[in-house]
Amino acid sequence: MATVSLKNLVKKYGQLEVVHSINLEVKDREFIALVGPSGCGKSTSLRMIAGLEDISGGEIHIGDRVVNDLPPRQRNISMVFQSYALYPHMTVAENMGFSLKIAGKSQAEIDAAVAEAARTLSLEALLERRPSQLSGGQRQRVAMGRAIVRNPDVFLFDEPLSNLDAKLRMQMRTEIKKLHSKVQSTVIYVTHDQVEAMTLSDRIVIMRDGHIEQVGTPEEVFQRPRTRFVAGFIGSPT
Ligand code: ADP
Ligand code: MG
Repeated sequence: MATVSLKNLVKKYGQLEVVHSINLEVKDREFIALVGPSGCGKSTSLRMIAGLEDISGGEIHIGDRVVNDLPPRQRNISMVFQSYALYPHMTVAENMGFSLKIAGKSQAEIDAAVAEAARTLSLEALLERRPSQLSGGQRQRVAMGRAIVRNPDVFLFDEPLSNLDAKLRMQMRTEIKKLHSKVQSTVIYVTHDQVEAMTLSDRIVIMRDGHIEQVGTPEEVFQRPRTRFVAGFIGSPT
């Protein structure tokens, strides 16, 4: 069970507190969108869940484990960023298999996992290409492929589509939805795009200045915004 619970989670950079004791329960296989203005603490929160950033207080539970002190590799999480950060000198297949190689898997296991991920994301024809020979959308699909080969319990996305043009963003939204229904993992998806959040997620978390303003289904936050800020944020076009 890959529930994710944040309990009084705090982040300070020196004296500056940027995440103020947030509480959130993400259900197993739920798709949660985390939205809010630039600088409100979305990436910091995600990076703490991934283990890429130390926490300053509180607890992070994944399933039945408290993961506060576990290194990223032991959290069974995959993270997809806005910048694809593919290795330019490796093929698509090598990029996708790299984390498994590091983890000491056999070549046969790696090949099988890469083939399956490639099927899921329709990347079969691109496996021998290098990143420079791919379009932006294809690179982002490879980045997702690299994330799913590890068969994570939890996927973290940090504005994965914000470098893509509008048309491609629409296509990729569909891909991400398909991916979620196929791999059945829990997803926390950071975006500053309200429409993306509304169309993709089971529930939306609206953050502001390091705290959570409201959590609810797209319908709830749209129809019953708890604060003026939520109303303005959800209602306003990007
Ligand atoms: P978001 O992803 O919502 O745009 P971030 O989580 O990146 O916001 O940042 C939240 C706040 O923390 C911002 O005020 C940002 O300037 C600050 N911050 C982020 N990373 C650091 C850092 N390494 N050192 C100091 N302050 C940081
Ligand atoms: Mg960010």
